[in-house]
Amino acid sequence: MTHSDSGGTRLDPWLGSYASRAHNMRASEIRALFAVASRPEVVSLAGGMPYIGGLPLEEIGEMMRRLIVEHGETALQYGSGQGDENLREHITHVMALEGIRAHPDDVVVTTGSQQALDLVTTVFIDPGDVIVAEAPSYVGALGVFRAHEADVVHVPMDENGLIPVALASTLAGLKAEGRRVKFLYTVPNYHNPGGVTLSLERRPQILEICRRFGVLVLEDNPYGLLGFDREPLPAMRSMDAEGVIYLGSFSKTFAPGFRVGWAAAPHAVRDKLVLASESAILCPSNASQMAIASYLEHSDWQGQIKKFREQYRERRDAMIHALEEFIPEASWNVPDGGFYVWVKLPDGLDAKAMLPRAVTARVAYVPGTAFYFDGSGSNYMRLSYCYPTPERIREGVQRLAGVVEAEMET
Ligand code: PMP
Repeated sequence: MTHSDSGGTRLDPWLGSYASRAHNMRASEIRALFAVASRPEVVSLAGGMPYIGGLPLEEIGEMMRRLIVEHGETALQYGSGQGDENLREHITHVMALEGIRAHPDDVVVTTGSQQALDLVTTVFIDPGDVIVAEAPSYVGALGVFRAHEADVVHVPMDENGLIPVALASTLAGLKAEGRRVKFLYTVPNYHNPGGVTLSLERRPQILEICRRFGVLVLEDNPYGLLGFDREPLPAMRSMDAEGVIYLGSFSKTFAPGFRVGWAAAPHAVRDKLVLASESAILCPSNASQMAIASYLEHSDWQGQIKKFREQYRERRDAMIHALEEFIPEASWNVPDGGFYVWVKLPDGLDAKAMLPRAVTARVAYVPGTAFYFDGSGSNYMRLSYCYPTPERIREGVQRLAGVVEAEMET
């Protein structure tokens, strides 16, 4: 056997050579099912893929052509490790929509906010350090934390987001145990997967608690501009620039294919993030950054976000109506922005065990267990309404209802 054919399910001859952190990197058990779920006959309520069909593709194509023809010398060259200064300037204007007053120098451009999550974790986490996070939490962040051998302690949410008294008592308990808490990871707006938003009143309370315990806040905010009924709430970073690292992304407000996100951080932290990023990738893609800057300069990007909000609201409505009609025995929250509905199944049902049967019935979702560090949450599932049309959403929920019904009978 050669080294190159040792992948897949065969014995890995390098097993004994991996760093301990590599043993924590696990392919999700549900990934194989998702390969099946991406077949066209399956209605996928699983992925968080934005609706790219809503973008003016001709216009973007022409913009890309001009970018390469007129600015190819720069666009196709290496660039700054911290990111293109012109784009960083634009990013400060985007953040101003959520009340953040920042200088371009506060910003580090990253390859999606996913890379920013990795950089922050690289810079702050030693094996065994504790990260406090909402219960449930974004699966992609949990994967990064696991890969860096962190321990994640979850704190409950209610319909107003993270519960301040629960956070305070968790931090007090961890302190009493002598555990080292490095940061609070929070998705305050239109939570993935919870769908809820941290209320305005709670934001300063959460910040005050974190300050009291000397805990940094990692505010991950890809959905903040995608509210259906209201203007964006002020970001936590707008209330405490020294205690908060803010992560933003163009993935949901424009397009994930460019892979452009950012971190806004206190200056000393920013320096570390730039060094970590240079060591990982040298610099983010100039072509992608210039494409985003050009889009922000020349198109009605705020109008496009408004269109996205209307499309997603229509899809949210389709999903909620279908749940009411077809699965009334389950319960769920009604999100007022973002992409996700968090569904609690009738007692005794296990969403992970049910998934293969759902895929056979041509519908897919993400089981709740993916969003808990300790694998709890089996009674829950995340449904995404961002990608399928309203008709497909209705069809998908109807198929899901058949699976739930059959499951309740067994
Ligand atoms: N954070 C959250 C909460 C997300 O939902 C996502 C994408 N699903 C990301 C970060 C990563 O997004 P990106 O890397 O595309 O910016």
